[in-house]
Amino acid sequence: MTVLSPSRTGARVERQPLARYTTLGVGGESEVWFVADHAQLAEAMEQPYRILGGGSNLVVADEGVPERVIRLTGPLAQADLTPDPVLSTPEQIVTGWVGGGVPLPGLIRKLQKLGLSNLEGTVGIPAQVGGAVWMNAGTRYGEMFDGLHTLEIVTPQGTRQVTPDDLAWGYRDSGIPRNHIVTRVRLRLRPSTPEEVLAKMDFADHARKGQPKMKTPGCAFKNPGGGKGAGQLIDEAGLKGTRVGAAMIAPEHANFIVNLGGATAADVHALLALICDRVGVPLDLEYELWPETLPG
Ligand SMILES: Cc1cc2nc3c(=O)[nH]c(=O)nc-3n(C[C@H](O)[C@H](O)[C@H](O)COP(=O)(O)OP(=O)(O)OC[C@H]3O[C@@H](n4cnc5c(N)ncnc54)[C@H](O)[C@@H]3O)c2cc1C
Repeated sequence: MTVLSPSRTGARVERQPLARYTTLGVGGESEVWFVADHAQLAEAMEQPYRILGGGSNLVVADEGVPERVIRLTGPLAQADLTPDPVLSTPEQIVTGWVGGGVPLPGLIRKLQKLGLSNLEGTVGIPAQVGGAVWMNAGTRYGEMFDGLHTLEIVTPQGTRQVTPDDLAWGYRDSGIPRNHIVTRVRLRLRPSTPEEVLAKMDFADHARKGQPKMKTPGCAFKNPGGGKGAGQLIDEAGLKGTRVGAAMIAPEHANFIVNLGGATAADVHALLALICDRVGVPLDLEYELWPETLPG
């Protein structure tokens, strides 16, 4: 890690391996801007940038990326769950601001303890709030847009606040353009009890039983339609357990690639290419590659 001089507005800037910030644990060195307020964010956005959340949907190249990589920290990674006295009613709690850099799993646990419902269907998604909102992450038991009241979005042109009604959101899609940064949201929650919320979380969590527990960026491919899931197709091609270097197609679930320890992005790229070659059906990637194309 190389510490670069602090920026004009005081953002911490370091060259760091992005492997540290991705759930797959691969990704080369890049210039990381840790921004704690809107002035620091505006400065970071003066040059080409990418916004990194929990890194749970990314395969970052071994060379890293040439753009600035922005991480939300400080107040932009804190949650004020106090009910807003003006916006809340007996039937609906609207919270204070929840930073885009807040880890989603911890937030879901806090909401459960407070007996606040609407987001428990997203249990087990290892994202940050901003990344989860940007993708409208979810499961069959619920998604992020079930619990959003207001979103703050920052671009190099300025800051605006919108409601879900202002966005063309849908399945795993917020309608927010790439690199428009979700800095903070207000949550819209239903008063319930900790027991009721926990019961729903347990139900949603149970559906993850077959997923591998190792380092992974989640599902590799979208289900192509036509009856068979991507995992089933990869399994039928006899690829479960196939390894390239230290990357492996998980024996538990063929649509997951896991890092056995020390895997490189090149190992993962090679496995992805192998799967596309051996499965007789065109498959679309579920996770993002940084940069965006497979080499070769
Ligand atoms: C074990 C495992 C299980 C998973 N299960 C699910 C699941 O059940 N359902 C599901 O939907 N997904 C699942 N995922 C995938 C992943 O968690 C989601 O896609 C999640 O939304 C990614 O959020 P992130 O914060 O990690 O974003 P990152 O992976 O860091 O980034 C993904 C994209 O979001 C953008 N982004 C990140 N932060 C912001 C921000 N603040 N503002 C704007 N854009 C931003 C990035 O630029 C990038 O384009 C799973 C992943 C893993 C590893």
